[in-house]
Amino acid sequence: MESTIKPALYIVATPIGNLSDITLRAIEILKQVEVIFAEDTRTTSVLLEKYQINTKLISYHKFSDNKKTELVLEYLNNSKPVALVSDAGTPLISDPGGYLVEKARKEGFEVVPIVGACALIALLSSIARLDEDFKFIGFISRNKNQIIDTVKQNRFENLIFYESPKRALSTLEIIKEINPNKKIALARELTKKFEEIKTDSVSNLIEYYKTNPLKGEIVIMLHKDRKDELKESGRVEINLDYNIEKLKKLNLKDKQIASIISTLFEVNKNNVYKRCIELS
Ligand code: SAM
Repeated sequence: MESTIKPALYIVATPIGNLSDITLRAIEILKQVEVIFAEDTRTTSVLLEKYQINTKLISYHKFSDNKKTELVLEYLNNSKPVALVSDAGTPLISDPGGYLVEKARKEGFEVVPIVGACALIALLSSIARLDEDFKFIGFISRNKNQIIDTVKQNRFENLIFYESPKRALSTLEIIKEINPNKKIALARELTKKFEEIKTDSVSNLIEYYKTNPLKGEIVIMLHKDRKDELKESGRVEINLDYNIEKLKKLNLKDKQIASIISTLFEVNKNNVYKRCIELS
């Protein structure tokens, strides 16, 4: 088939489970590019077969060396359109391609997003939130102390992360140690047969998953703590020591620490100052 698309690097989103979740434009682009660079050619072959796409496939994964990137650029230099796909969802979202896109842009080639499925967006679009804002951190750390730091530091954010089914329950247990009432949205197997989206406190979710095994692909959002609710429940005070110690490590004076914390958490400055002295 004669290609009618402009030469560019097309970043094509593919399904995250349900093979019907692909746009007509994505199919058209995948048919018309000279070559598709794919994270795993076997996974992508299944999709190509379903849509009768016969385009040449070449692997491009996170361990691909510079030569692979050079090969993509060579196609672009010869005015050939190329596509990049990952195993599932949107490339570059916790998937390879960042380096390639950087190189292509630096060399003046057009990079065109062909939009579609993305697990974090699917979760966000299906749960109620009081605020629009969120923070996505990709896969959360496997290290307990780092998980604790991440959760505490981002307690006033709607924090979204990807997690493996092997570690999900133990990550929830760590979050429960920090705050057993932390509100969580957890989606697993989105777009697939066993899709399940639950929102509840972390303690209730752990109980639920004790009898309903937490399997499959998982994306989690920790709802932000609300300052007004925290003040009412007095929990701001519980985290006061942690915040004071963090700021002390930056060699700030007690008065400065009191000012910062009282501004951020809307608590009494003198009480914070007194606590700073007690902790000295
Ligand atoms: N690029 C993908 C995207 O756009 O969402 C993400 C790729 S990342 C390597 C894979 C992780 O995304 C999985 O381990 C899981 O945490 C999440 N994920 C992918 N598909 C999912 C699905 N169908 N349901 C829930 N989470 C999913």
